[in-house]
Amino acid sequence: MSDPLDEGLRACAEALRENRTDADALAGEARRRAAARDDLNAFVSLDTRVPARSAHASPLAGVPFAQKDNFCTAGLRTTCASRMLDGFVPPYESAVGERLQAAGAVSIGKTNLDEFAMGSSNETSHYGPVRNPWDPTRVPGGSSGGSAAAVAAGIVPFATGSDTGGSVRQPAAFCGVTGLKPTYGRVSRWGLIAYASSLDCPGVLARSAEDCACVLGAIAGHDPRDATSAARPAEDYLAALDAPLAGLRIGVARPYFGAGVEAGVGAAVQAALAEYERLGARLVEIDLPHAHLAIPAYYVIAPAEASSNLARYDGVRFGHRCAHPRSLEDLYTRSRAEGFGAEVRRRILIGTFALSAGYYDAYYLSAQKARRLIAGDFDAAFAQVDLIAGPTAPTTAFALGEKSADPLAMAAADVNTVAVNLAGLPALSIPAGLHAGLPVGLQLIAPAFAEARLLAAAHRFQQATDWHRRRPGGRP
Ligand code: GLN
Repeated sequence: MSDPLDEGLRACAEALRENRTDADALAGEARRRAAARDDLNAFVSLDTRVPARSAHASPLAGVPFAQKDNFCTAGLRTTCASRMLDGFVPPYESAVGERLQAAGAVSIGKTNLDEFAMGSSNETSHYGPVRNPWDPTRVPGGSSGGSAAAVAAGIVPFATGSDTGGSVRQPAAFCGVTGLKPTYGRVSRWGLIAYASSLDCPGVLARSAEDCACVLGAIAGHDPRDATSAARPAEDYLAALDAPLAGLRIGVARPYFGAGVEAGVGAAVQAALAEYERLGARLVEIDLPHAHLAIPAYYVIAPAEASSNLARYDGVRFGHRCAHPRSLEDLYTRSRAEGFGAEVRRRILIGTFALSAGYYDAYYLSAQKARRLIAGDFDAAFAQVDLIAGPTAPTTAFALGEKSADPLAMAAADVNTVAVNLAGLPALSIPAGLHAGLPVGLQLIAPAFAEARLLAAAHRFQQATDWHRRRPGGRP
Protein backbone atom coordinates (compact mmCIF):
# COMPACT_ATOMS: atom_id res chain seq x y z
CA MET A 1 0.00 0.00 0.00
CA SER A 2 1.44 3.34 -0.93
CA ASP A 3 1.47 5.80 1.96
CA PRO A 4 2.63 9.17 0.60
CA LEU A 5 2.81 10.89 4.02
CA ASP A 6 5.24 8.21 5.18
CA GLU A 7 7.15 7.98 1.90
CA GLY A 8 7.93 11.67 1.72
CA LEU A 9 7.37 14.93 -0.05
CA ARG A 10 7.93 13.66 -3.55
CA ALA A 11 5.44 10.83 -3.07
CA CYS A 12 2.88 13.35 -1.74
CA ALA A 13 3.41 15.64 -4.74
CA GLU A 14 2.96 12.68 -7.12
CA ALA A 15 -0.20 11.47 -5.40
CA LEU A 16 -1.61 15.01 -5.61
CA ARG A 17 -0.65 15.43 -9.25
CA GLU A 18 -2.25 12.11 -10.20
CA ASN A 19 -5.38 13.02 -8.24
CA ARG A 20 -5.07 10.00 -5.95
CA THR A 21 -5.65 12.39 -3.05
CA ASP A 22 -6.12 16.10 -2.43
CA ALA A 23 -4.65 18.70 -0.10
CA ASP A 24 -7.53 18.53 2.40
CA ALA A 25 -7.39 14.75 2.62
CA LEU A 26 -3.61 14.75 3.16
CA ALA A 27 -3.76 17.49 5.80
CA GLY A 28 -6.67 15.74 7.52
CA GLU A 29 -4.78 12.46 7.61
CA ALA A 30 -1.63 14.17 8.93
CA ARG A 31 -3.67 15.82 11.73
CA ARG A 32 -5.31 12.47 12.53
CA ARG A 33 -1.91 10.79 12.79
CA ALA A 34 -0.54 13.61 14.95
CA ALA A 35 -3.42 12.99 17.38
CA ALA A 36 -3.12 9.18 17.14
CA ARG A 37 0.59 9.37 18.02
CA ASP A 38 0.00 11.48 21.11
CA ASP A 39 2.29 9.00 22.92
CA LEU A 40 5.29 10.58 21.14
CA ASN A 41 4.45 14.08 22.50
CA ALA A 42 5.83 15.45 19.22
CA PHE A 43 3.29 18.29 18.93
CA VAL A 44 2.64 21.27 21.17
CA SER A 45 -0.31 22.62 19.12
CA LEU A 46 -2.24 21.60 16.04
CA ASP A 47 -2.61 24.23 13.33
CA THR A 48 -6.24 24.54 12.28
CA ARG A 49 -5.88 27.89 10.55
CA VAL A 50 -7.50 27.85 7.10
CA PRO A 51 -4.69 27.95 4.52
CA ALA A 52 -4.88 30.46 1.69
CA ARG A 53 -5.32 28.64 -1.60
CA SER A 54 -2.27 28.96 -3.79
CA ALA A 55 -2.79 28.83 -7.51
CA HIS A 56 0.68 28.27 -8.86
CA ALA A 57 2.29 24.92 -9.52
CA SER A 58 4.93 24.25 -6.91
CA PRO A 59 6.11 20.80 -5.85
CA LEU A 60 5.03 21.82 -2.34
CA ALA A 61 1.44 22.70 -3.27
CA GLY A 62 -0.95 20.76 -1.05
CA VAL A 63 1.77 19.00 0.94
CA PRO A 64 1.31 19.05 4.74
CA PHE A 65 4.18 19.94 7.04
CA ALA A 66 4.91 20.78 10.68
CA GLN A 67 6.79 23.74 12.13
CA LYS A 68 9.08 23.73 15.12
CA ASP A 69 7.36 25.76 17.82
CA ASN A 70 10.00 28.50 17.77
CA PHE A 71 8.85 29.73 14.34
CA CYS A 72 6.24 32.45 14.82
CA THR A 73 2.80 31.64 13.42
CA ALA A 74 0.34 34.51 12.96
CA GLY A 75 -2.67 34.01 15.22
CA LEU A 76 -1.40 30.63 16.46
CA ARG A 77 0.30 30.10 19.82
CA THR A 78 4.11 29.90 19.60
CA THR A 79 5.67 28.71 22.85
CA CYS A 80 9.35 27.78 22.37
CA ALA A 81 8.26 24.96 24.73
CA SER A 82 8.61 27.45 27.58
CA ARG A 83 6.21 28.43 30.32
CA MET A 84 7.40 31.97 29.52
CA LEU A 85 5.61 31.92 26.14
CA ASP A 86 2.82 29.46 27.01
CA GLY A 87 0.18 32.01 26.05
CA PHE A 88 2.06 33.94 23.35
CA VAL A 89 0.18 34.42 20.06
CA PRO A 90 2.43 36.16 17.49
CA PRO A 91 0.95 38.85 15.24
CA TYR A 92 3.05 37.71 12.26
CA GLU A 93 4.35 34.64 10.43
CA SER A 94 8.06 33.72 10.19
CA ALA A 95 9.73 34.20 6.79
CA VAL A 96 10.17 30.42 6.51
CA GLY A 97 6.53 29.70 7.31
CA GLU A 98 5.41 32.46 4.99
CA ARG A 99 7.46 31.17 2.04
CA LEU A 100 6.39 27.55 2.52
CA GLN A 101 2.74 28.50 2.69
CA ALA A 102 3.09 30.82 -0.30
CA ALA A 103 4.35 27.73 -2.18
CA GLY A 104 1.15 25.94 -1.14
CA ALA A 105 2.45 23.76 1.71
CA VAL A 106 -0.12 23.24 4.48
CA SER A 107 0.99 23.79 8.08
CA ILE A 108 -0.68 21.19 10.33
CA GLY A 109 0.97 21.81 13.68
CA LYS A 110 3.74 23.10 15.90
CA THR A 111 6.31 20.63 17.13
CA ASN A 112 7.78 20.18 20.57
CA LEU A 113 11.41 21.19 21.28
CA ASP A 114 13.87 21.75 24.06
CA GLU A 115 12.94 24.98 25.85
CA PHE A 116 14.12 27.88 23.67
CA ALA A 117 15.97 25.25 21.59
CA MET A 118 18.47 24.69 24.42
CA GLY A 119 19.25 21.02 24.66
CA SER A 120 20.24 17.86 22.85
CA SER A 121 17.50 15.46 23.91
CA ASN A 122 14.17 17.32 23.88
CA GLU A 123 13.89 16.74 27.63
CA THR A 124 13.96 20.42 28.69
CA SER A 125 10.53 21.18 27.16
CA HIS A 126 7.92 22.68 29.50
CA TYR A 127 5.48 20.23 27.89
CA GLY A 128 7.52 17.13 28.67
CA PRO A 129 9.95 15.07 26.60
CA VAL A 130 9.39 13.77 23.09
CA ARG A 131 9.82 10.03 22.60
CA ASN A 132 11.81 8.43 19.80
CA PRO A 133 9.56 6.47 17.39
CA TRP A 134 12.29 3.82 17.08
CA ASP A 135 12.20 3.14 20.82
CA PRO A 136 9.87 5.10 23.11
CA THR A 137 12.22 4.67 26.08
CA ARG A 138 14.81 6.75 24.21
CA VAL A 139 15.16 10.45 23.38
CA PRO A 140 14.58 11.72 19.82
CA GLY A 141 17.58 14.06 20.08
CA GLY A 142 17.27 17.79 20.32
CA SER A 143 16.39 20.43 20.12
CA SER A 144 14.17 19.77 17.05
CA GLY A 145 13.04 16.46 18.58
CA GLY A 146 9.34 16.92 17.83
CA SER A 147 10.02 17.66 14.15
CA ALA A 148 12.33 14.64 13.81
CA ALA A 149 9.86 12.31 15.55
CA ALA A 150 6.94 13.60 13.46
CA VAL A 151 8.77 12.86 10.20
CA ALA A 152 10.15 9.51 11.44
CA ALA A 153 6.66 8.40 12.51
CA GLY A 154 5.19 9.21 9.09
CA ILE A 155 2.93 11.98 10.40
CA VAL A 156 4.27 14.63 8.01
CA PRO A 157 6.66 14.29 5.04
CA PHE A 158 8.77 17.21 6.26
CA ALA A 159 9.09 19.65 9.13
CA THR A 160 11.06 22.79 9.86
CA GLY A 161 13.74 22.93 12.52
CA SER A 162 16.35 25.36 13.75
CA ASP A 163 20.02 24.51 14.16
CA THR A 164 22.19 26.58 16.50
CA GLY A 165 24.68 23.85 17.37
CA GLY A 166 23.24 20.71 15.81
CA SER A 167 19.53 20.83 16.56
CA VAL A 168 18.45 19.73 13.09
CA ARG A 169 21.26 17.24 12.33
CA GLN A 170 21.50 15.43 15.67
CA PRO A 171 17.75 14.64 16.04
CA ALA A 172 17.70 13.67 12.34
CA ALA A 173 20.48 11.17 13.12
CA PHE A 174 18.70 9.81 16.22
CA CYS A 175 15.38 9.39 14.39
CA GLY A 176 16.68 8.05 11.06
CA VAL A 177 15.65 10.98 8.86
CA THR A 178 17.53 13.47 6.69
CA GLY A 179 18.28 16.86 8.28
CA LEU A 180 19.71 19.90 6.47
CA LYS A 181 21.31 22.95 8.08
CA PRO A 182 21.96 25.54 5.36
CA THR A 183 24.74 28.15 5.31
CA TYR A 184 24.25 30.93 7.87
CA GLY A 185 22.39 33.69 6.02
CA ARG A 186 21.01 31.41 3.28
CA VAL A 187 17.57 31.21 4.93
CA SER A 188 15.97 34.15 6.72
CA ARG A 189 15.79 34.08 10.52
CA TRP A 190 12.96 36.60 10.52
CA GLY A 191 10.26 35.30 12.87
CA LEU A 192 12.45 32.50 14.25
CA ILE A 193 12.58 33.27 17.98
CA ALA A 194 16.20 34.04 18.78
CA TYR A 195 18.44 31.76 20.84
CA ALA A 196 22.01 32.70 19.73
CA SER A 197 21.73 35.02 16.76
CA SER A 198 25.18 34.52 15.22
CA LEU A 199 24.61 30.74 15.15
CA ASP A 200 20.83 30.25 14.65
CA CYS A 201 19.90 28.78 11.30
CA PRO A 202 16.51 27.55 10.02
CA GLY A 203 16.66 24.02 8.60
CA VAL A 204 14.64 21.11 7.27
CA LEU A 205 13.91 17.55 8.41
CA ALA A 206 12.59 15.21 5.72
CA ARG A 207 12.80 11.69 4.31
CA SER A 208 15.54 12.34 1.76
CA ALA A 209 18.07 14.80 0.42
CA GLU A 210 15.83 15.25 -2.60
CA ASP A 211 12.95 16.35 -0.36
CA CYS A 212 15.29 18.69 1.54
CA ALA A 213 16.42 20.20 -1.79
CA CYS A 214 12.81 20.86 -2.70
CA VAL A 215 12.09 22.62 0.60
CA LEU A 216 15.36 24.58 0.54
CA GLY A 217 14.45 25.89 -2.92
CA ALA A 218 11.29 27.38 -1.42
CA ILE A 219 12.81 28.92 1.73
CA ALA A 220 16.25 30.12 0.55
CA GLY A 221 16.82 33.65 -0.67
CA HIS A 222 17.39 37.19 0.43
CA ASP A 223 15.12 38.78 3.01
CA PRO A 224 15.63 42.46 3.88
CA ARG A 225 13.98 41.85 7.29
CA ASP A 226 17.00 39.78 8.42
CA ALA A 227 20.16 41.91 8.46
CA THR A 228 22.36 38.80 8.09
CA SER A 229 20.41 37.40 5.14
CA ALA A 230 22.72 36.74 2.16
CA ALA A 231 22.09 38.77 -0.98
CA ARG A 232 23.05 36.02 -3.39
CA PRO A 233 20.16 34.33 -5.17
CA ALA A 234 19.02 30.81 -4.28
CA GLU A 235 19.92 28.02 -6.71
CA ASP A 236 17.87 25.30 -8.36
CA TYR A 237 18.80 22.64 -5.82
CA LEU A 238 16.62 19.96 -7.42
CA ALA A 239 18.20 20.40 -10.85
CA ALA A 240 21.67 20.01 -9.32
CA LEU A 241 20.92 16.67 -7.59
CA ASP A 242 22.28 14.48 -10.34
CA ALA A 243 25.82 15.85 -10.26
CA PRO A 244 28.12 12.80 -10.44
CA LEU A 245 30.12 11.60 -7.45
CA ALA A 246 33.10 10.55 -9.57
CA GLY A 247 36.17 12.45 -8.48
CA LEU A 248 34.49 14.09 -5.48
CA ARG A 249 37.04 14.41 -2.67
CA ILE A 250 35.57 13.60 0.74
CA GLY A 251 37.66 14.58 3.74
CA VAL A 252 37.40 12.05 6.52
CA ALA A 253 37.81 14.17 9.63
CA ARG A 254 40.01 12.29 12.09
CA PRO A 255 38.79 14.12 15.22
CA TYR A 256 35.18 13.24 14.44
CA PHE A 257 36.03 9.57 15.06
CA GLY A 258 37.72 10.28 18.39
CA ALA A 259 37.13 8.90 21.87
CA GLY A 260 33.47 8.82 22.80
CA VAL A 261 32.32 7.56 19.40
CA GLU A 262 30.54 4.23 19.94
CA ALA A 263 32.21 1.41 18.03
CA GLY A 264 28.96 0.50 16.25
CA VAL A 265 28.45 4.11 15.15
CA GLY A 266 32.01 4.41 13.84
CA ALA A 267 31.67 1.12 11.96
CA ALA A 268 28.37 2.13 10.30
CA VAL A 269 29.86 5.45 9.21
CA GLN A 270 33.00 3.75 7.85
CA ALA A 271 30.77 1.39 5.84
CA ALA A 272 28.88 4.38 4.43
CA LEU A 273 32.18 5.99 3.45
CA ALA A 274 33.24 2.76 1.73
CA GLU A 275 30.00 2.97 -0.24
CA TYR A 276 30.93 6.50 -1.30
CA GLU A 277 34.28 5.18 -2.49
CA ARG A 278 32.53 2.45 -4.46
CA LEU A 279 30.40 5.16 -6.08
CA GLY A 280 33.49 6.99 -7.29
CA ALA A 281 34.34 9.44 -4.52
CA ARG A 282 37.88 9.69 -3.19
CA LEU A 283 38.43 9.58 0.58
CA VAL A 284 41.13 11.85 1.97
CA GLU A 285 42.14 11.79 5.65
CA ILE A 286 42.12 15.28 7.07
CA ASP A 287 42.77 16.85 10.42
CA LEU A 288 40.89 19.75 11.98
CA PRO A 289 43.49 20.82 14.55
CA HIS A 290 41.19 23.01 16.64
CA ALA A 291 38.19 20.67 16.71
CA HIS A 292 38.63 20.17 20.48
CA LEU A 293 37.89 23.88 21.03
CA ALA A 294 34.43 23.72 19.45
CA ILE A 295 32.43 22.60 22.49
CA PRO A 296 34.07 25.04 24.97
CA ALA A 297 33.81 27.96 22.50
CA TYR A 298 30.19 27.16 21.66
CA TYR A 299 29.16 26.84 25.29
CA VAL A 300 30.49 30.35 25.98
CA ILE A 301 29.24 32.09 22.82
CA ALA A 302 25.78 30.53 22.66
CA PRO A 303 24.86 31.29 26.30
CA ALA A 304 26.38 34.80 25.99
CA GLU A 305 24.13 35.60 23.05
CA ALA A 306 21.19 33.87 24.73
CA SER A 307 21.59 35.96 27.88
CA SER A 308 21.20 39.07 25.75
CA ASN A 309 18.38 37.75 23.54
CA LEU A 310 16.36 36.47 26.48
CA ALA A 311 16.59 39.78 28.37
CA ARG A 312 13.44 40.84 26.51
CA TYR A 313 11.29 38.48 28.61
CA ASP A 314 10.84 40.85 31.52
CA GLY A 315 7.19 40.28 32.39
CA VAL A 316 6.27 43.71 31.03
CA ARG A 317 5.67 43.50 27.30
CA PHE A 318 4.83 39.87 26.62
CA GLY A 319 5.31 36.45 28.08
CA HIS A 320 4.69 35.21 31.59
CA ARG A 321 4.04 37.79 34.33
CA CYS A 322 4.13 36.84 38.00
CA ALA A 323 1.09 37.49 40.18
CA HIS A 324 0.95 40.59 42.43
CA PRO A 325 4.44 42.05 41.90
CA ARG A 326 5.55 44.12 44.89
CA SER A 327 8.00 46.26 42.89
CA LEU A 328 9.53 46.52 39.44
CA GLU A 329 12.48 44.40 40.50
CA ASP A 330 10.15 41.80 42.00
CA LEU A 331 8.21 41.77 38.71
CA TYR A 332 11.39 41.09 36.71
CA THR A 333 12.91 38.51 38.98
CA ARG A 334 9.80 36.50 39.78
CA SER A 335 8.44 36.58 36.20
CA ARG A 336 11.76 35.28 34.87
CA ALA A 337 12.31 32.74 37.66
CA GLU A 338 8.80 31.33 37.14
CA GLY A 339 8.77 31.56 33.33
CA PHE A 340 12.13 29.94 32.51
CA GLY A 341 13.05 26.34 33.23
CA ALA A 342 16.29 25.17 34.84
CA GLU A 343 18.36 24.73 31.66
CA VAL A 344 17.42 28.17 30.29
CA ARG A 345 18.22 29.80 33.65
CA ARG A 346 21.58 28.01 33.71
CA ARG A 347 22.44 29.34 30.24
CA ILE A 348 21.41 32.91 31.13
CA LEU A 349 23.59 32.80 34.24
CA ILE A 350 26.61 31.39 32.38
CA GLY A 351 26.19 33.87 29.53
CA THR A 352 25.80 36.87 31.82
CA PHE A 353 28.89 35.80 33.75
CA ALA A 354 30.96 35.33 30.58
CA LEU A 355 30.06 38.84 29.39
CA SER A 356 30.54 40.61 32.70
CA ALA A 357 33.29 43.17 33.28
CA GLY A 358 36.53 41.46 34.26
CA TYR A 359 35.54 38.10 32.72
CA TYR A 360 34.74 39.24 29.16
CA ASP A 361 38.36 38.91 27.96
CA ALA A 362 38.96 35.62 29.70
CA TYR A 363 35.84 33.90 28.37
CA TYR A 364 33.92 35.62 25.60
CA LEU A 365 36.93 37.07 23.76
CA SER A 366 38.87 33.80 24.02
CA ALA A 367 35.87 31.92 22.68
CA GLN A 368 35.67 34.31 19.72
CA LYS A 369 39.35 33.69 18.99
CA ALA A 370 38.77 29.94 19.12
CA ARG A 371 35.84 30.44 16.74
CA ARG A 372 38.18 32.10 14.22
CA LEU A 373 40.67 29.22 14.48
CA ILE A 374 37.88 26.67 13.94
CA ALA A 375 36.67 28.52 10.83
CA GLY A 376 40.30 28.62 9.63
CA ASP A 377 40.56 24.82 9.99
CA PHE A 378 37.60 24.42 7.64
CA ASP A 379 39.07 26.90 5.14
CA ALA A 380 42.34 24.94 5.09
CA ALA A 381 40.52 21.61 4.73
CA PHE A 382 38.35 22.84 1.86
CA ALA A 383 41.49 23.77 -0.07
CA GLN A 384 42.06 19.99 -0.30
CA VAL A 385 38.60 18.40 -0.30
CA ASP A 386 35.06 19.11 -1.56
CA LEU A 387 33.13 17.80 1.46
CA ILE A 388 33.97 16.71 5.01
CA ALA A 389 32.42 13.59 6.57
CA GLY A 390 32.05 11.96 9.97
CA PRO A 391 29.44 10.61 12.37
CA THR A 392 26.74 13.22 13.10
CA ALA A 393 26.67 12.21 16.76
CA PRO A 394 29.02 9.97 18.73
CA THR A 395 26.20 7.65 19.88
CA THR A 396 22.77 6.49 18.83
CA ALA A 397 19.68 7.75 20.69
CA PHE A 398 20.25 7.43 24.44
CA ALA A 399 17.70 6.57 27.12
CA LEU A 400 15.34 9.22 28.52
CA GLY A 401 16.88 10.57 31.70
CA GLU A 402 20.28 9.05 31.00
CA LYS A 403 22.11 12.38 30.61
CA SER A 404 19.69 14.94 32.02
CA ALA A 405 21.58 15.30 35.30
CA ASP A 406 24.95 15.70 33.57
CA PRO A 407 25.24 18.84 31.37
CA LEU A 408 28.75 17.90 30.22
CA ALA A 409 27.69 14.46 29.00
CA MET A 410 24.73 16.14 27.26
CA ALA A 411 27.04 18.66 25.58
CA ALA A 412 29.17 15.80 24.24
CA ALA A 413 26.23 14.79 22.03
CA ASP A 414 27.02 17.90 19.94
CA VAL A 415 30.77 17.38 19.69
CA ASN A 416 30.65 16.87 15.90
CA THR A 417 27.98 19.44 15.04
CA VAL A 418 28.70 22.73 16.86
CA ALA A 419 31.86 23.64 14.90
CA VAL A 420 29.77 23.87 11.73
CA ASN A 421 27.61 26.62 13.29
CA LEU A 422 30.66 28.46 14.63
CA ALA A 423 31.96 28.58 11.02
CA GLY A 424 28.52 29.28 9.48
CA LEU A 425 28.77 26.34 7.05
CA PRO A 426 26.06 24.15 5.48
CA ALA A 427 25.85 20.51 6.62
CA LEU A 428 23.42 17.63 6.64
CA SER A 429 22.82 14.31 8.33
CA ILE A 430 21.65 11.28 6.38
CA PRO A 431 20.68 7.84 7.68
CA ALA A 432 23.77 5.69 7.13
CA GLY A 433 23.14 2.46 8.98
CA LEU A 434 21.72 0.87 12.11
CA HIS A 435 23.51 0.00 15.32
CA ALA A 436 21.66 -2.32 17.71
CA GLY A 437 18.44 -1.50 15.87
CA LEU A 438 18.84 2.28 16.14
CA PRO A 439 19.63 4.75 13.33
CA VAL A 440 23.15 6.11 12.77
CA GLY A 441 23.65 9.43 10.98
CA LEU A 442 26.43 10.41 8.58
CA GLN A 443 27.25 14.12 8.63
CA LEU A 444 28.48 15.82 5.46
CA ILE A 445 29.80 19.39 5.64
CA ALA A 446 30.33 21.72 2.65
CA PRO A 447 31.92 25.13 2.07
CA ALA A 448 29.65 28.15 2.48
CA PHE A 449 26.80 28.26 -0.06
CA ALA A 450 27.69 24.86 -1.56
CA GLU A 451 24.28 23.40 -0.63
CA ALA A 452 23.83 22.08 -4.18
CA ARG A 453 27.03 19.99 -3.91
CA LEU A 454 26.05 18.77 -0.44
CA LEU A 455 22.54 17.72 -1.44
CA ALA A 456 23.73 16.02 -4.63
CA ALA A 457 26.28 13.94 -2.71
CA ALA A 458 23.60 12.87 -0.23
CA HIS A 459 21.12 12.13 -3.01
CA ARG A 460 23.60 9.90 -4.85
CA PHE A 461 24.13 7.88 -1.66
CA GLN A 462 20.37 7.56 -1.15
CA GLN A 463 19.91 6.32 -4.70
CA ALA A 464 22.41 3.54 -4.02
CA THR A 465 21.29 2.58 -0.47
CA ASP A 466 18.03 2.17 1.41
CA TRP A 467 18.92 3.32 4.95
CA HIS A 468 16.63 6.33 4.52
CA ARG A 469 13.75 3.95 3.75
CA ARG A 470 14.10 1.94 6.97
CA ARG A 471 11.26 2.46 9.42
CA PRO A 472 10.87 1.97 13.17
CA GLY A 473 9.64 -1.45 14.22
CA GLY A 474 10.75 -3.02 10.96
CA ARG A 475 7.99 -1.32 8.98
CA PRO A 476 8.98 -1.45 5.28
N1 GLN B 1 22.41 21.20 21.93
C1 GLN B 1 22.91 22.50 21.60
C2 GLN B 1 22.50 23.49 22.65
O1 GLN B 1 21.86 23.12 23.58
C3 GLN B 1 22.41 22.91 20.25
C4 GLN B 1 21.00 23.34 20.26
C5 GLN B 1 20.54 23.89 18.96
O2 GLN B 1 21.13 23.67 17.91
N2 GLN B 1 19.47 24.67 19.04
O3 GLN B 1 22.83 24.65 22.58
